Amino acid sequence: MKKNKIAVAVALCMAAVLTACGGTAKTETTKAAGAETTKAGAETTVAAETTKAGAESSAAGGKLVMVTNAEFPPYEYHDNNDIVGIDADIAKAIADKMGMELEIQDMAFDSLIPAVQSGKADFTAAGMTVNEDRKKNVDFTDTYAQAAQVIIVKDGSEIKAPADLDGKKIGVQTGTTGDIYAGDIKDGNIQRFNKGMEAVMALSQGKVDAVVIDREPAKVFVKENAGLKILDEAFTEEEYAIAVKKGNTELLEKMNAAIKELKDSGELQKIVDKYITAK
Ligand code: GLN
Repeated sequence: MKKNKIAVAVALCMAAVLTACGGTAKTETTKAAGAETTKAGAETTVAAETTKAGAESSAAGGKLVMVTNAEFPPYEYHDNNDIVGIDADIAKAIADKMGMELEIQDMAFDSLIPAVQSGKADFTAAGMTVNEDRKKNVDFTDTYAQAAQVIIVKDGSEIKAPADLDGKKIGVQTGTTGDIYAGDIKDGNIQRFNKGMEAVMALSQGKVDAVVIDREPAKVFVKENAGLKILDEAFTEEEYAIAVKKGNTELLEKMNAAIKELKDSGELQKIVDKYITAK
């Protein structure tokens, strides 16, 4: 009798071990480790940086590791413990088309390109603007969204157009195109923040005169903070794309094929419409 019990226990234990090695157990393992949990519907594993994901990162291993900075609604943001948004959904749709599992890791915006360059991640989807400097370090897919840097000011501000930014205190998110291009402002005093939202809060508190940031997050932040507005004239026009390691043409081509399918089928627009209601 006792022997039988032990046998059952051993069998259960083995089953547990086997499950832990299987794909579906990742969710539980991640949760148990106190790391960030999974996306609703358990379609996407959202693992913290502390998991072994880095070592496993390989498009050939059936899993695609994406890095992003989830402080950028509606493209990527935290919804409780999940990372959701347009980029998360597009990446999931691309991974589905490639028959691969998707894992999303959250990190500082200026760590994204290094993570892709070092192979810690397969790609970054982060509302990332394509520009010549970045092209030296990563390869970009075809673009999937039109974007812009806009200017947020307080209601009643004397800043009414980009030209009025000369000599002003400008809040930006570190390493973004807002940060890069605000450098062109004559006598501008650039104040850098880790999160776009922090720059917007500094504006509310009168610590900066304006914030230069991407249009869609700007709309979200202005909605959440009374007394702010977005100037009609944009600061720059830009385009977003996904970035992969330089020379990883195999992944780049697969992603481009998937992006094309998503565009042609209208699925991409559907994802955008899910997160951006009023144009
Ligand atoms: N589009 C901007 C850039 O690429 C900002 C992106 C972001 O903050 N996630 O720099």
